[in-house]
Amino acid sequence: MTLFLFFFFGSIVGSYFETTNQRIARDDNLILDSNKRFLRSQCDHCKKELSWLDLFPIFSFLFLKGKCRYCKKPIKIDHLISELLFGLIFCLLILSDNSLDLFLTIPFFSFLFAIALFDYKYFLIPKIYLLFFILISFFSLYFEGSFTNIIFASVMTLTVFIAKQIMDRLMKRETLGNGDLFLIFGLGFFHSPIEFSFTLLLASSLGIVIFVLKSLMNNPIDKVPLGTLLAIGSISSFSFI
Ligand SMILES: [Zn+2]
Repeated sequence: MTLFLFFFFGSIVGSYFETTNQRIARDDNLILDSNKRFLRSQCDHCKKELSWLDLFPIFSFLFLKGKCRYCKKPIKIDHLISELLFGLIFCLLILSDNSLDLFLTIPFFSFLFAIALFDYKYFLIPKIYLLFFILISFFSLYFEGSFTNIIFASVMTLTVFIAKQIMDRLMKRETLGNGDLFLIFGLGFFHSPIEFSFTLLLASSLGIVIFVLKSLMNNPIDKVPLGTLLAIGSISSFSFI
């Protein structure tokens, strides 16, 4: 029962962040609408304000067969994906025997996966998410982190920064965004050195696999969403190490 409640709670958070991601992508105000009223959720097509019946995570999407109740146009599948993903992550957090408090891990992984979803779609990390993410990771030092975390995070981020400078020169373009560097720094504050190393290892291995597979399929890519890969590495190391 607790697990189901956590899944449900996670799917509500996922629904919220999917809406916020779309607003950031459109460069909309995140708090007020054009009439200076607090924003309510609305249909992407007909702009009709949605009631709680339309916003019930997962079930609303399935019940409405993925279509808006009012204009019958399709609702983006991204909503369902985000709701299922966050539901799953919240379940992983409660099942993990990691000693960190849920009051810390829930906001940390919520912002991390909001970044992951955004980066996957737009190859960009929104500054507002990054700010919250860094604040939470600093806060985590107060509870759990040790001096080792700070040293290790700084050394690893500096190493990645130097590697970025070399790669930028060699490839004559920006190979890694500054947002990625801040993300790596925040992850280093939050995770123990072992978890953090595993996170970086898994993210870079996944990046190489994607790069090679895409090249083999004659569809070479010049960038991978590192934020997404780091988030996958982070939740894996948190849950299974
Ligand atoms: Zn509609």
